[in-house]
Amino acid sequence: MTTRRDFLQKLTATAISFPFTAHAIQPKSIAVAEPYQGPVLRVAIMGLGSYANRVAEAMRDCKKAAITGVISGTPSKIKDWQGKYNIPEKNCYNYDNFDRIKDNKDIDAVYIITPNALHHPQCLRVAAAGKHVICEKPMAVNAREGQEMVDACKKARVKLLIGYRMHFEAKTLEVLRMRNAGELGKVLFFEGHSGFQIGNPNQWRMNKALSGGGAMMDIGIYSVNGARYMIGEEPIWVTAQETKTDPVKFKEGIDETILFQFGFPSGAVASCLSTYSMNYLDRFFLNGEKGYAMLQPATGYGPIEGRSHKGEFKHPHITHQTTQMDEMAEIILNNKKPVVPVDGEEGLKDMKIIDAIYEAVRSGKRIDLRL
Ligand code: NAD
Repeated sequence: MTTRRDFLQKLTATAISFPFTAHAIQPKSIAVAEPYQGPVLRVAIMGLGSYANRVAEAMRDCKKAAITGVISGTPSKIKDWQGKYNIPEKNCYNYDNFDRIKDNKDIDAVYIITPNALHHPQCLRVAAAGKHVICEKPMAVNAREGQEMVDACKKARVKLLIGYRMHFEAKTLEVLRMRNAGELGKVLFFEGHSGFQIGNPNQWRMNKALSGGGAMMDIGIYSVNGARYMIGEEPIWVTAQETKTDPVKFKEGIDETILFQFGFPSGAVASCLSTYSMNYLDRFFLNGEKGYAMLQPATGYGPIEGRSHKGEFKHPHITHQTTQMDEMAEIILNNKKPVVPVDGEEGLKDMKIIDAIYEAVRSGKRIDLRL
C-alpha cells in the first residue's frame, strides 16, 4: 500500500489532467477539490488482451487504484504497456515466473483477465504469493474450482474479488434502492436477456478447454447474477432448455442458446435467455406489485439506459471499470462493504447456479439449489 502523495505516476497523471484554464477562471468563492491523498491499491494486470486494455484505460481516471505491474506471455505487449502505463522492468512477469511477485513490495493485488479456465490455477498461484486476487467473471469453469479459489484465498489471508462491474453502476443501484424502499411493492418477476453474436469460431471462447462452456459462461452469467441482485434473493430451483441453430459452429460443450428459469423463496420467478447468436440482447426487467424498473442496455459498457414506472433514470455515465477499481480498492484497503457483494462467495454462487443450469439441460429436470 502507498499513499497518493508518494505515488509519482498517479501524481503526474493528476497534474496532466488537471483543468488548468478552468482553474484560472474559478471564482474565489468556489473551493477547488483537494487531490486525493489516501492509500492507493497497486495492481498488476495478468493477461493483456482486449478486456485488460479496457480496464487499464479506465484505470487512468482512478483515484484509489493504479497499475504498477503486468504479467503476460508476450514480451512485445509488456513493452507496450510499460511505455503506456509507466511500469518498471522489475514489475513485469511472465506466466512461468510470476510466483516471484511474492517478493514485490510495489504490488498489492493481481487482476486476472485471462481465458476462463486459467482463472483457477492462476488464482491459486497469486494467493500462494500472498497477493489479493481480483478475477474476471466467470470466476472459474465450475463450482468445485470456485470453492478451491475461495478456500485458497482464505487460507492465504488475501481477498478474492470478482470483476462484477455492474454492482457499482448507478442506474443498477437505483433499481435496488427503489426495490429496497418498497417503491416497486412486492417483487414478483425478473426477466433477463443476455446475448451477442459471437464471431470467429476459432477464438478461445469457442474452445471448451479454455472457456468451460459457451454463451452461459461468458454472457449468460450476467442474467444469472442479475436475477439474484435484482430480485434480492437466492434462487431455490432452476429449470433450463437448450437450443442450437448451428451445431457445427457450437460444438459439444459450447452452448449457443439456453433459456432458464429460477424460483425464489418468496415465490418470485425469473425467466432468462443466454445466447451467442443474437445481438441487441441486453435487457433486465423487474416487476413488482406497485411498479416496474427496466435497464436496456443493462450490462454493456454503457451508458446504461433505464426507467421505472416513475420515469427515466438520469444518472450520469461513469466508465464502469473506473468506478469498479476505485471501489475495489476501498474494499481491499479499507474493508468497505459494497451494496452488492463482489467477493469469491458471490462468484461461487453463480458457478453453483451455472453447474445446475447445465445439469437441468442434460437431465430435463428441475434442479433444487442450496446456495
Ligand atoms: P482476450 O482473448 O482478448 O484476452 C485474453 C488474454 O489472455 C490475451 O492477452 C491472451 O494472450 C492471454 N492468454 C494467456 N494465456 C492464454 C491461453 N492459454 N490461451 C489464450 N489466451 C491466453 O479475452 P478477453 O475478452 O480480454 O477476456 C478475458 C477475460 O475477461 C475472460 O474471463 C472474460 O470473461 C473476461 N471479460 C470480462 C468482461 C467484463 O465486462 N467484466 C468483458 C470482457 C471479458
